[in-house]
Amino acid sequence: MAENSTITICLMAILFITRLASTLGKSRPWTGFLSPRLQTLHFARNLHLEPDAIKSVSSDYGNLVHENPAAVLYPSSIEDITSLIKFSYNNYTPFTVAARGHGHSVGGQAMASNGVVVDMMSLRHHKNGTGITVLKSPSLGFYADVGGEQLWIDILHSTIEHGFAPVSWTDYLYLTVGGTLSNAGISGTTFRYGPQISNVYEMDVVTGKGEVVTCSSRSNSELFYAVLGGLGQFGIITRARIALEPAPKRVKWVRMLYSDFSAFTKDQELLISINGRKQKNALDYLEGSLLMVQGPPNNWRSSFFPSSDIPKIMSLVTQHAIIYCLEAAKNYDDETRHTVDKDLQQLFKGLSFVDGFMFEKDVSYVDFLNRVRSGEEKLHSQGLWDVPHPWLNLFLPKSRISDFNKGVFHDIVLKRNITTGVVLFYPMNRQKWDDKMSAVIPDEDVFYTVGFLHSSGFDDWQAYDQQNKDILKFCDQAGIEIKQYLPLYNSYKEWINHFGSKWRRFRERKAQFDPKMMLSPGQRIFNDI
Ligand code: FAD
Repeated sequence: MAENSTITICLMAILFITRLASTLGKSRPWTGFLSPRLQTLHFARNLHLEPDAIKSVSSDYGNLVHENPAAVLYPSSIEDITSLIKFSYNNYTPFTVAARGHGHSVGGQAMASNGVVVDMMSLRHHKNGTGITVLKSPSLGFYADVGGEQLWIDILHSTIEHGFAPVSWTDYLYLTVGGTLSNAGISGTTFRYGPQISNVYEMDVVTGKGEVVTCSSRSNSELFYAVLGGLGQFGIITRARIALEPAPKRVKWVRMLYSDFSAFTKDQELLISINGRKQKNALDYLEGSLLMVQGPPNNWRSSFFPSSDIPKIMSLVTQHAIIYCLEAAKNYDDETRHTVDKDLQQLFKGLSFVDGFMFEKDVSYVDFLNRVRSGEEKLHSQGLWDVPHPWLNLFLPKSRISDFNKGVFHDIVLKRNITTGVVLFYPMNRQKWDDKMSAVIPDEDVFYTVGFLHSSGFDDWQAYDQQNKDILKFCDQAGIEIKQYLPLYNSYKEWINHFGSKWRRFRERKAQFDPKMMLSPGQRIFNDI
């Protein structure tokens, strides 16, 4: 009898322990880095720790940096974000929080090692976000209120239904509003309309204290200017009010080839000197790029040249080693369709491109803006989109571009012969940027952007990385005062140097809006150094 009851007690104990173990197994494995109290908050169901969730945010387009967060928040409302940040802010040991837009950074900027990544795109599935709304006011005219999580492609489609569109774009539209406004948002439209950060009227921002602040150039202006180009350091943008203009219907898209660098840049500078927003004879877009023997004239960024012209172009490239391609566009609609060609002829009169090497296309406005998408889809289908991207993007003062052409394009890029992809090179006007913003640009009226948009294999990215380092070293030794765009630095000293005269203000703003240094740790300005 006693033996029986001992067996029964043992069985019951085993059953209890098994049940407990299985219950614990199903419960969330709260990580050592986050307080278990998080589990009790109202948004806990949107906080995920499963390996799939962690993996989805632990790499980016660059595919070179990999950092695991402790958890991922898929917010269903802005309140989820404010509660998370408030919780961390009030915690004895605050954890870091990174907003992730579309993860198209190349150096881990939207990651948060052992912190929480807020997957902003999840707000697109909920009605509680801002969405995309086109509105009108007597003082602003037409504008769009858009969530920080919105993709520019969706903003284009939504606003164009109302006959309007933003005027300042990036080349590629599958980027979020929060992501590009944290950098600048540049393209061939910048010389005339300014970067995207110059086309924002107002924002809602969740600061590093978890407060939602509406800011503009008139109200809470310190936060407004801090956030624009602020690399995510001062708050999470949940809404931006974007300037709109009537949308054109079509675009005349032109490319001209140059064998001479100074003729190329002289013409680029001439064309961007006509840049008034309302100036009817100005171009709407101007860029430039390099064509070299080792890469095809068409690439993922846009397939422009018809195949019948490729042999002729390649023969010119072979003859000169580097050919400079000026790319320009002018928008038109029903009212201007009879005059656009004449306007372009007038603008291009006297330009010094190689005779017979001007090419023209006529495309819809949406196709022009979304020109990179088809290249992306093609690379996706070949499994070549999610490869490493050791990119380098710089701003150069105009006074040193010839030195850069010789020292970098000829003596490094051409000689090393590994750059087969896109190299962009085009000028912008400083006056279209606002110095109060956090974005950093060279201190000359005209400056250039150069973008080495490399794709590499998983086993040869180091060669590109080394080339990038050598380009930076050359600039340093030659005294060319470059500024990195989408900056990547490894030390505090380099960040101080990057911000230059803006550093003090940048640091003070950090102390004011994110005093516990929780936000966007992946930029590695105030964290991990
Ligand atoms: P993410 O990479 O997710 O985030 C970037 C940074 O912004 C991170 O620090 C993140 O924490 C922060 N962040 C994200 N959302 C918010 C938010 N709501 N509030 C505050 N901070 C936030 N750039 C150009 O200017 N012009 C171009 O033409 C251009 N073309 C590109 C083409 C491709 C194929 C790629 C991959 C990138 C391109 N970029 C271009 C660079 C791009 O603008 C930046 O990498 C941008 O940050 C990417 O946006 P994202 O939404 O993916 O941001």
